[in-house]
Amino acid sequence: MGDLSRLCIHTITNKPWSLPEALQAYSDQGIGGVSIWQNAVEPYGAKEASRIIADFPLKVVSYVRGGFFPALDQTARRQALDQNRKLIDEAAEINAPLLVLVCGAEPNQSLLKSREQIREGIEILLDHAQAAGVNLSIEPLHPMYADTRSAINTLGQANDMAEAIGSPAVGVAVDVYHLWWDPDLEAEILRCGKNGNLDAFHICDWKSPTVDMLNDRGLMGEGCIPVKTISQWVEAAGFHGFIEVEIFSNHYWSMDQHRFLEMIIDAYKKLYH
Ligand code: ZN
Repeated sequence: MGDLSRLCIHTITNKPWSLPEALQAYSDQGIGGVSIWQNAVEPYGAKEASRIIADFPLKVVSYVRGGFFPALDQTARRQALDQNRKLIDEAAEINAPLLVLVCGAEPNQSLLKSREQIREGIEILLDHAQAAGVNLSIEPLHPMYADTRSAINTLGQANDMAEAIGSPAVGVAVDVYHLWWDPDLEAEILRCGKNGNLDAFHICDWKSPTVDMLNDRGLMGEGCIPVKTISQWVEAAGFHGFIEVEIFSNHYWSMDQHRFLEMIIDAYKKLYH
């Protein structure tokens, strides 16, 4: 892992860059993969974005992000499904094998109800996803987001759901930011890999103190997440895919993005030398 062939960066990590700027910088550094966020595609549309991406020697690892299934009324749930179908088509267009799902939650109903609606939503999308050749990846989110962003908050819950759905088109994305605190994490990572559901691995760090619930993620090594140890669990679970750096940070977005990219690469090399 010492070289950068397994390193993948999420375009949101360098949010100030346009899609071509990000792809150029990642390619220049010899980075192997990129996960494309919807906001990076939006100014071009998926077709044009696909042409832009094809000019660079980067593997598209995933398209981020679908989901947000729960809602109080059926019309809104139906609209969410339409939006997800559109995102699956866009993922296929840009050759992303995976659509990452931030599953959603509705604060005016129980988490249980939201989870039912998530499962129902994913099941309805299965045929469309399989026809498009795009896998759906459930990403459990830290419980601080259980009100509106995701009713799936542990890897155990994500594993339960992926196994209950039982489709080869559904898996799980493990993100250290959301899961590092979980006492069952090692066992659940092993379970996820053993059942063939470990689709993706996202890294960053948890800054202490964290000053913003969404946009204050840290660079690997500057916080309290044992990223190296969790990486070893993921490897032991049979995952040898891309290691994806996903950092939302007002602090890092305000600095020179080339400098920030150098810092990411240094932190990555230090972690996996
Ligand atoms: Zn993530």
